[in-house]
Amino acid sequence: MFETLSDRLTSVFSSLRAKGRLSDSDIDATTREIRIALLEADVALPVVKAFVAQVKERARGAEVSQALNPAQQVVKIVNDELIGILGGETRRLRLAKTPPTVLMLAGLQGAGKTTLAGKLARWLREQGHAPMLVAADLQRPNAVQQLQVMGERAAVAVYAPEPGNGVGDPIEVARRSIDEARRLQHDIVIIDTAGRLGIDQEMMKQAADIRDAVSPDEVLFVVDAMIGQDAVTTAQAFMEGVGFDGVVLTKLDGDARGGAALSVRHITGRPIMFASTGEKLEDFDAFHPDRMASRILD
Ligand code: GDP
Repeated sequence: MFETLSDRLTSVFSSLRAKGRLSDSDIDATTREIRIALLEADVALPVVKAFVAQVKERARGAEVSQALNPAQQVVKIVNDELIGILGGETRRLRLAKTPPTVLMLAGLQGAGKTTLAGKLARWLREQGHAPMLVAADLQRPNAVQQLQVMGERAAVAVYAPEPGNGVGDPIEVARRSIDEARRLQHDIVIIDTAGRLGIDQEMMKQAADIRDAVSPDEVLFVVDAMIGQDAVTTAQAFMEGVGFDGVVLTKLDGDARGGAALSVRHITGRPIMFASTGEKLEDFDAFHPDRMASRILD
């Protein structure tokens, strides 16, 4: 198990005086530990630097608090700043004024897109929506079938190209799915797109073409939280190649540290909207910056 930020800070805090103002050396000692803890949690260096600078500035300017001792004061500042860097409030889905709302998923193969499509569909159905899944990943063998299985498990409709129907074009599938959703009165369309194991121009172009064809209300970038620093490079590539409105972090059950969450949000400026925490459909929820902050701290 890695050492949590709290573990690290406890040793520093024990040397802080119980009362009074934080001294510069107290602040330096704590921010040093924060820096190490964040780097160990795989947070990208520029993000660590920005974060530490912010904490330092706030700690220096902190009023002498009657209610909190110096250690508690630092924890509060770190917690507040973490929540801030993670986006503050939970960012909700923007629904289209005229249905269907079109959501497009993009990300590398293996990121957990297809699983996420099922999770999101189930989550939306439970909230009273009538979502439809769209199989526009025609690259990976079995992707269509996998989405159909997800649809069954989530009890939602799946729009997929019929074998032999001559529809081998994901852009055409995505386009037709919108008409189909309208016809069948689905109010939300979730389009699963193809990923590759690595970033490649052809994949980016296909995703961008689908985006242009259907003008999604939200493009969601799906990223595996376990890939650590690589999440930043991947996010930047998708930002340039396709563009996205929000981020979905998957496999957070395997990454207690949240380094990817901090970095991706800070570097792309896009909110993390959802989090996946396991292989089951129910292992999914809206992303709550405050909960993630306490997870990083605790
Ligand atoms: P895609 O290629 O992006 O469509 O990825 P898949 O949806 O096929 O997921 C790849 C693998 O990751 C599958 O074995 C999923 O069961 C697994 N997976 C997806 N989301 C999660 C998650 O949140 N936690 C864990 N532990 N595994 C996940």
